[in-house]
Parts: sequence; C-alpha cells; structure tokens
Amino acid sequence: MIYIHVPFCKSFCTYCDFFREIPGEGAFDTYTRMVCQEIKSRCNEMDDSLHTLYFGGGTPSVLPLSNLTKILLALEECGHGGPYTEFTMEVNPEDVVEKGLPYLQSLRMLGCNRISIGIQSLDDDLLRWMNRRHNAERAREAVRLAREAEFLNVSVDLIFGLSNLSDEVWERTIDDTLELKPEHISCYQLTVEGDSVLAHRLEAGEYEEASDEQCARQYNILCHKLHAAGYNHYEISNFAKPGFEAKHNGGYWQRKPYVGLGPSAHSFSGRGRSWNSQEIADYTRTEESLSVEDEIMETLMLSLRTARGADAEFLEANCQPGAIQRLTGEGALVKVGKRYRIPESKFFVSDQIIRELV
Ligand code: SF4
Repeated sequence: MIYIHVPFCKSFCTYCDFFREIPGEGAFDTYTRMVCQEIKSRCNEMDDSLHTLYFGGGTPSVLPLSNLTKILLALEECGHGGPYTEFTMEVNPEDVVEKGLPYLQSLRMLGCNRISIGIQSLDDDLLRWMNRRHNAERAREAVRLAREAEFLNVSVDLIFGLSNLSDEVWERTIDDTLELKPEHISCYQLTVEGDSVLAHRLEAGEYEEASDEQCARQYNILCHKLHAAGYNHYEISNFAKPGFEAKHNGGYWQRKPYVGLGPSAHSFSGRGRSWNSQEIADYTRTEESLSVEDEIMETLMLSLRTARGADAEFLEANCQPGAIQRLTGEGALVKVGKRYRIPESKFFVSDQIIRELV
C-alpha cells in the first residue's frame, strides 16, 4: 500500500486545516524531486500483498501530468510500478472540468482505475460558503467526464452536519448524488478543525455548530437513502455498491502496513508509525514505535468502525470486564459468528461505545 500526499490546493476550504499550500514558482518540480528521492530511499519498505496506490491531498489533480508521470516512473524503477490492484486519484471537480477529457484519459493510460471526486455538496450556496472552487453543475460535469473517460470506479465525497445545511437540502443532495450513480460514496460529518477559517468564525461568534440531534438525523437520512439505493454501509463513513469497497482504505482499517510518501504523509510499518514533516523542499521523517496498549487500542477502534467488526476472542481478551455483555444487552454490540460489530443503527455513536469498551 503506497500513499502519496500532494500538498497543493488552489484555494483553501472554510473547514480545512490540513497541511496544504498554494503552489508557487517551481513548487511542483521541487516536490516531485523530493518524492522521487524518497521512493528510492524507501523502496525496500514497499513490499505488500495489496499493491494499491493512492494519491491524496491537498488536491492531487493540481499536479501536472508530467510530474505525476515522473513519480510513477520512480516507483516502476524501484520495482513497485503498476498495474496496481487499485490506483486511486483524488480530484477536484473544477480541475477535472478545466483540464477536460484528455486529462482523465491520460490518468487512465497511466494506470489510474479509481477516481475520487471531492463533490462535498450539490448546493451552490453551501459550496460557496465552503469556499469550494466548483459549483453543482461543474461537479456533475466532472462525473460525466469521468464516465466518458471510462472510469468504472467513481467515488464521491459528501459533507453533512453543517448548521446551515437543512434536512431538505441534505435530502436533495443525496438524491442528486444518487442520480450520478457513483460506485462509492464517502460521507463525513463536518468537524471544526483547529486552525481553519471556520474555527475562527466560531470563535468570533459568526458560526454556530450543528446540534448532535441534527447530525444524527442527517446521518440517518443518509444511511436510509443509500441502503435503499443498494449501497453497502461497510464503514462508518463509507458506502459502496457490492464489490466496490475501497481496497486501499480497507487496508488501513485492517492495520496493514503502508508507506506514505511526500510532505506530512504518515506511514505504518506494522510495528510502528512514522510521519514526514511539512516542508515541501526538505521534509524529514520521525518514527515512533507503538506500545502493546496502543496496538490494542488501534485494532479495536479501526475494526469496530467497519461492518465486519472485531474478532470476538480479541475483544473478550482486551475489553473492560462486563462491558461487552452490557453493550450487547443494550443492542450497542452484536455478535455475528466469531466477530462483534456495532450495528448500523449505532454507528453514529460508535466513539462512545468504543470508549465504554476500553
Ligand atoms: S479540503 Fe481539500 S481542497 Fe479544500 S483546502 Fe483542504 S485539502 Fe485543499
């Protein structure tokens, strides 16, 4: 599993505090040189059974194709080239429409077989409020172009839980999204992040957070509509048509090792985690090994976020005495075969359930 972080954005979204920069003169080439060097130096860490590649960001679609090609060649030269079982590229709808069909066809030719389009909403007022670059029409056009370029695995991202998102607009957004027939939908509840524009607005009294009731209601609307449309709710925030569950992200939830390349990317070796610093021109890596307690906690948290759940023996050996029985009695945990899982109706409060378990 290889993750490549592309830390560039053309503008910054209201709710975001990820590490990202507006690319300056020469930034793409400096970035590409650094990533290619890192590929060479970490080549021996990349052996894995999944063989997936994921470009995330930031906004990977701002990276010119010539730079992307250099990175793919560097992977090939060190023996970790394509075809990948899954090669995902996160894209911004506006970039896709601006660059047009030839861009998408080039991505396909370079081996990309899954595209993840950051739609977030199909309501123009909300998109403006989020400071997204696209509008609803451009988002629809991006999906249409992806189909024209013969992408057979299209994922879209949505956001709910904004206090200015009414249930009516949310329902319409989901219905409109379903009309686009994506194979996969990721849907995240808005959180107010540390240094985002939204955090400053909240502090200045210009924004009020959505209530828990509103968020729970909108999550339920989502679950019902996507279930009725034939999507499998396989992880708290992820829904897929059968067979289109994300392989790369699935690997994260199963704690498979991955190599994260590029500034601010994180890696997991199976025994420890490491992360790159945020300097584009000269980033460095810090490593940390995990304690047994950390490993247990991670395994619990990640597995219980999925519909597959956690191994029953593991849970029984590592949870608070009595907690499993109590939560099972309350319907917050169900045993299916040799695994325990949180039922979909309780996914929304899964953090609380996991806290009670440990
Ligand atoms: S949400 Fe994505 S596109 Fe928006 S600023 Fe953050 S990284 Fe960039």
